[in-house]
Amino acid sequence: MANKEFPYTGFTSLAVHAGHEQDPNYAHLTPIYASSTFVYDSAEQGMRRFSKQEEGYIYSRWGNPTFTEAEKKIAAMECFGVATTNGDPLQVKALLHASGMAAITTLFISNLKAGDKILSHFSLYGGSQEMMDKILPGLGIEAVIVDLRDLNKAEEALKADPKIRMVYLETPANPTVQCVDIAELTQLAKKYNKLVACDNTFATPYLQQPFRYGVDFIIHSTTKFLNGHGTAVGGVLLGRDIEFMNNRAAKTYQLLGGNSNPFDAFLLINGMRTLEIRMERHCHNATEIANYLEVHKAVAKVNYTGLSSHPDHYLAHKQMRHPGAIMSIELKGGLQAGIQMMDRLQLCTRTVSLGTCDTLLCHPASMTHYGVPKAQREQYGITDGLIRMSIGIENVQDILMDLEQSLKGL
Ligand SMILES: *Cc1c(COP(=O)(O)O)cnc(C)c1O
Repeated sequence: MANKEFPYTGFTSLAVHAGHEQDPNYAHLTPIYASSTFVYDSAEQGMRRFSKQEEGYIYSRWGNPTFTEAEKKIAAMECFGVATTNGDPLQVKALLHASGMAAITTLFISNLKAGDKILSHFSLYGGSQEMMDKILPGLGIEAVIVDLRDLNKAEEALKADPKIRMVYLETPANPTVQCVDIAELTQLAKKYNKLVACDNTFATPYLQQPFRYGVDFIIHSTTKFLNGHGTAVGGVLLGRDIEFMNNRAAKTYQLLGGNSNPFDAFLLINGMRTLEIRMERHCHNATEIANYLEVHKAVAKVNYTGLSSHPDHYLAHKQMRHPGAIMSIELKGGLQAGIQMMDRLQLCTRTVSLGTCDTLLCHPASMTHYGVPKAQREQYGITDGLIRMSIGIENVQDILMDLEQSLKGL
């Protein structure tokens, strides 16, 4: 925390500079510290470092200077303009992980024990859902799943089950873009003295800052918009209880071994510098594309929180700066139309994942969910003609031209 506290007035000034410290060799950028271990001047110094009397790096599973810059930058972005209840600028601590799932694992294992429960919503990232279904029950930790868009149901669950220790939110959710109300749910959780965690991957700290509403923890898959270029899988856990983060969370992180690596951290630092300008462009393009597709004759429905037809339109507007860059469309022509559209794409990329500079399209019925029986797929809202889109930062007229030619005659 030796970093000078410059009073950044703009998000990008902060995103460019925050977390950076002068390199001892005067390198402009923080180098990729590709070193598993760190050395001591003397046995006494080793003693001081191990007993935490002196700050310093020891072993890269515990921390590394390249991770530190990425961690401080994300922490600064999540706290930008956010004050504590005393009016002081909020400070949080971040731990950089190998993946979003590794960060979620540290979150759960450091906070929960056998007998505890998590309250969450039914629409979550598949990996988080599977973790609650397949891994946590073996540790004696159960998930209570209710529709968290209904605050009465959320309160009933909190009242009925004192074993609930954490409320776990993800908004907008992957991939449905369903939103839940962070402010209302956090207030409710705090009334019953529960911890609140929020997966902020889809929004990023530029669009939405959950610490503003009093959540205890934020997690990100940095793989998506934070890295922004699709060059590395990564994740981060941020917490406002610094004492907990430095002790229980750090110990769990060190022993689970879910740390990042210096090369991926370096890529992440560089990606995050342009977060604001990328998100502005992503969201601007997404709005134009949603408006175009909403009236296209091959399209039955556009699912985008930026459209007033979306049930979470007002909630997204309340807690997010812009409605994000993820949407899905439903083609009138079903499976065949979906396959044809995917085959004809020339500019847009056919792949899963999201949050990169290029526009990504995925047709779950013929890709991720091929082989899942239709009736089962449709339970998750994955109909034959559903196309998922992560809108990129290309010039919007080119994306529109590619969509137009790929939808022609469908
Ligand atoms: C991708 C994703 C994750 C998992 O992150 P990985 O980096 O793939 O481990 C978690 N939450 C959300 C919302 C995601 O989109």
